[in-house]
Amino acid sequence: MQDNKKNHTKKGFIDVNFDTPVQFIKGVGPARAKAFEALGVRCAGDLLEYYPRDWVFVPEVTDIADIYANQAATLGGIVESCDFQQFRRPAIFEAYISDESGMCRIVWFHGGFLRGKLEPGMKIFVSGKVVDYKGQLQMNNPKLIISNEQDQSNNEKQKLGGSVYPACAKLGSRQIKNIINTCLDKLLEGVDEFFDKPFLKKANLIERSKAFRWIHRPKDQQQTAMAMRRLKYDELFLMQTALALRRYKLRHYASATAMKHSDKIDSRIRRRFPFLLTGDQSRAAEEIVADMGKTVPMNRLLQGDVGSGKTVIALYAALLAVANKKQAVIMAPTEILAQQHFLSMERYLKDSQVQRSLIKGGLTGTKRNEALKKIKAGKVDIIVGTVALIQKDIQFKNLGVVVIDEQHKFGVHQRASLRKDNTPHCLVMTATPIPRTLAMTAFGDLDVSVIKQPPPGRGKIITRALGSDDIGKAYEFIRERLRARKQAYFVYPRIADSENGDVKAAISEYEKLSRKIFPEFKVALLHGQMSTEETRKVMDGFRTGKTDCLVSTVLIEVGVDVPNATIMVIEGADRFGLAQLHQLRGRIARSQSNSYCLLFAETQSQLAKQRLAIMERSSNGFEIAEEDLKIRGPGEIFSPRQHGLPDMKIANIIDDFELLTMARKDAFEIVENDPMLKTPEHKNIRAELLKKFGESLGLVDIA
Ligand code: ADP
Ligand code: MG
Repeated sequence: MQDNKKNHTKKGFIDVNFDTPVQFIKGVGPARAKAFEALGVRCAGDLLEYYPRDWVFVPEVTDIADIYANQAATLGGIVESCDFQQFRRPAIFEAYISDESGMCRIVWFHGGFLRGKLEPGMKIFVSGKVVDYKGQLQMNNPKLIISNEQDQSNNEKQKLGGSVYPACAKLGSRQIKNIINTCLDKLLEGVDEFFDKPFLKKANLIERSKAFRWIHRPKDQQQTAMAMRRLKYDELFLMQTALALRRYKLRHYASATAMKHSDKIDSRIRRRFPFLLTGDQSRAAEEIVADMGKTVPMNRLLQGDVGSGKTVIALYAALLAVANKKQAVIMAPTEILAQQHFLSMERYLKDSQVQRSLIKGGLTGTKRNEALKKIKAGKVDIIVGTVALIQKDIQFKNLGVVVIDEQHKFGVHQRASLRKDNTPHCLVMTATPIPRTLAMTAFGDLDVSVIKQPPPGRGKIITRALGSDDIGKAYEFIRERLRARKQAYFVYPRIADSENGDVKAAISEYEKLSRKIFPEFKVALLHGQMSTEETRKVMDGFRTGKTDCLVSTVLIEVGVDVPNATIMVIEGADRFGLAQLHQLRGRIARSQSNSYCLLFAETQSQLAKQRLAIMERSSNGFEIAEEDLKIRGPGEIFSPRQHGLPDMKIANIIDDFELLTMARKDAFEIVENDPMLKTPEHKNIRAELLKKFGESLGLVDIA
């Protein structure tokens, strides 16, 4: 596009390709290579995808005679006179420049830096806003380029603008720009196109190499927009193709045992529950039954708010496997939650023939060996434990289904291993409300069941955001409830006091609550640094009602189920994400009477207030997640890396939803027609995928 051809003939130029380490690119060297590494750039190919964060476009050079007030203009001319007026307030540097059409005054406030730099006779370009000063047009504080060669006006003025790169202390935007410029043309030669012309035309996309050129060196906004569109599309397309391949592989390569199902089995399972399944639960169960009835391994996500009754569905899937003489595993992220699952299972399976076992972290030696032996021999039907414990070294006789409860986290978990025969069916459960966009990306290869309606007969949760002045009143309110034999949670962001004491911490608050505030009640402390045994004791005390108040860190967020606990105080509530607050609050959603959630914030900032007001207003996790998204933008939790996918560099699944939908459709279509991407027309896509996602895609092993 521009005058970069001269680079090819410059001395010392090396032949750059995608794999050339940045260190060997002209103008880099070892020190800068290190700085680049910190920015995620290792080789020249990374540089190509090191996109500008902004662009500055400079207007074409205008004749001085044609300017008007409030116009953004670029002028090119000769400096006629300079004057530094240092006693004015502020001090100004004044210059007059002229072109063939006229003369214009240029003023730099605090312009001392131009002393000795700008002198009469120089040719300069200035770009900025034209203002009317006492009836005369002038330019204030424009950007300045001093021309050192004559007669290059239009190329030189480009230096006033251009791409702005995300920089760091050791590597400025301008340096990065220059380095990219030295090798861009060479790199563009190596950019392969993915699609044919008719497709590009139909999809309104420009060619891939043009997109890279325009993103780094656009002439105008139109070009950056077109470049962004294409590069975003590609990024989304590659991700979706990876997901489509994963899904294809699961469907066509791995095979599972088809589980028989009948009305008899169904009623035998349902009889286990002391309530009727809700409509949503029934539908989820039906979907699971249908999936597990196939030889294609189930790969389903069960999404439902805290307390919506997912555990029952997990057990349904497990019992279906057991009815088919297969083993089932239920995995939880933490020991407490695993215990919780096991306990509710024990309740439902009392007097049943089904053999079940909880794999505990503390289990060692012969006891553990015995347990493992039994599992291997097929003498245990349902095994419950943490993900870490179960994935470690447990062997099964005939594993039929794996249920993974991710609770507040959700990620594309590492599927244990796909085998040609006997891949287990898999059900992932999450309480995180996942916006549609995310379900499509992070879970693009999963089928989704949703439980929307909570079980009937629940009381309401009344949430109030309070100020520290209200704490006394809050304690009295709580005292009244405790006297009525209700239980309460107190949640703090930290275990111990921080140095500056700005965050209330569980330990010190525990002391205060147990001794000073509620001496007449039993208060217990729970935090993540306690041993499993201690934790169990504390939990048992609270569960059985011996303890009235549980003071804790966010540990209780996961899986504690005590219906009589109907009060929750959360201090430092502004430190938690809304989704997390909602999760926490879900702990008191299990009662038939109303529950109370009292939120105390540390800061009184507008944002904190706004966010906590959402909690007061809404009890719908989905709505809360979307509101939070609006206020905070797609932060960390929506980053693809959190979901086992590489980070996106340019696309954003929320803002670019339309492109995402398009890319997804195209990707799935291509994989459907050419599952191994073996045809010549998909050669480039295949190569790029292998480069980006490695061989984990299975493009290699199913050839
Ligand atoms: P989740 O795992 O989705 O947070 P749980 O499965 O732990 O929720 O269920 C929460 C509570 O609701 C449990 O106490 C459970 O016994 C109860 N429950 C589940 N399903 C029903 C139902 N259909 N009718 C009544 N209560 C139910
Ligand atoms: Mg649960």
